Order: sequence, then structure tokens, then C-alpha cells
Amino acid sequence: NPLVIAIDGASGSGKSSTARGVAKRLGLAYLDTGAMYRAVTVAYLDSGVDGSDPAAVTAAVEAAQIEIATDPDDQWVRVNGRDVTDEIRSQRTSTHVSTVAVIPECRANLVARQRAIIESAPNGIVAEGRDITTVVAPDADVRLLLSADPEVRMARRKLDHGGQIDDAALRDQILRRDADDSTLVDFTTAADGVVHLDGSFMTLEQTIDAVVGLAER
Ligand code: C5P
Repeated sequence: NPLVIAIDGASGSGKSSTARGVAKRLGLAYLDTGAMYRAVTVAYLDSGVDGSDPAAVTAAVEAAQIEIATDPDDQWVRVNGRDVTDEIRSQRTSTHVSTVAVIPECRANLVARQRAIIESAPNGIVAEGRDITTVVAPDADVRLLLSADPEVRMARRKLDHGGQIDDAALRDQILRRDADDSTLVDFTTAADGVVHLDGSFMTLEQTIDAVVGLAER
């Protein structure tokens, strides 16, 4: 059976860099499920439907055609035929993504698409998100919850933005999204059988080594 590695963690926990690094090291595909939530958020915003109407948001999400790259070295995402690789990282998308993520029907739709991608990866895959270890791929060969202190996560995000982000926007991205996200899935306590790794004081290389070590056990 192809190797499946599931990594969950909060925003800024380092899960994306770690997951991509592990995929490259082991020659596996890579799936960023957050990018899928972001892509359907762009679709729902584009559709102009009322965000306070869950049925309308769900209809927009279910109708959205998503194409997403699984090459860890070449990441892009298209929604309804349009390349939204940059747009999914905008402040606007980040602000509205929880509108979609809190609707159970939207989650069910995305979980089904994510499982299909994971199952069709011939050489195995590293998938990352918030509910991969628990909902999307509870039978994964390696299940990891990656955490980091909020101060460390904010510092890393600031670096991602080349220092060009003010502290209020940073807090919004990290702390408010944590608060919103924690109502959906508990990604702060490791479920049974999930390894919890605190990467606050580890380098990216050390974190990748640790996950590769788990995969090779
Ligand atoms: O991982 P990233 O921060 O890009 O995810 C964006 C948002 O998508 C999260 O804040 C969360 O609301 C949602 N998400 C989710 N479940 C996942 C991945 C992302 O609810 N598996």
C-alpha cells in the first residue's frame, strides 16, 4: 500500500513547510487541504452569494470545480478554471475562509474530494490540514500533530511576509483563525494514535527528520 502521512496543526505551526519537505525527501505527493478550503472560499466570494446563508454557500462550494497540484515543488490551484494560486493567500480570502469551514456540508464535500486525491496517489502522499489525522485519513501510516507556541507562530508568519505585516493583521491571522478553527475540529490535542510534536524550538530540518524517522519505523 502507498504510504500516507497525515499532518495536522494550527496556522503557522510549520505543518506546510514540514509536509512539503517530507514529501520531497520521500518522493511522495503533497496535498495542502487548506488550499482547497481557500479555493472554494474564492469561489463562494466570486459567486456573490450571501455568506450568512449556509445553504447558498454550500451550493457554491459543491458546484466549485477544484484542480490542485500535488507536486511538492510546483504548487498551484485552479477554481472553476481560473488560477487562484495567489488569490487564496490574500487577506480577504483568509478572513472569509472560516465562513466555509464551519459549515458541516462544506466540510463533508471537501473531505470526500480530499480522500479521492489521497486514494489516487500511486506513490503515496503527505496530506496536511486540521482534520487529516482524525477525519480525512484516520488510517494513515503516520499521523502527526505539529504544534508551536503562538509567539513562535506569529514570528514565523511575520518572516513569511518579509516583515511587511502589521501586528494587528498578524494577530488576526493567527489568533482569531485559531479561535474560529477550534470550533470546527480539535487540532490542539492529539487524538489516540497521533504523535504530538512541539516544533517551537526545532528547525525545519529537524522537524522533517523527525517525521521521516516516524515513516521509516
Ligand atoms: O492551512 P490553512 O491555514 O491555509 O487553512 C486555511 C483555513 O482552512 C483554516 O483556517 C481552516 O479554517 C480551514 N481548514 C480546515 N480544515 C482543513 C484545512 C483547512 O477547516 N483540513
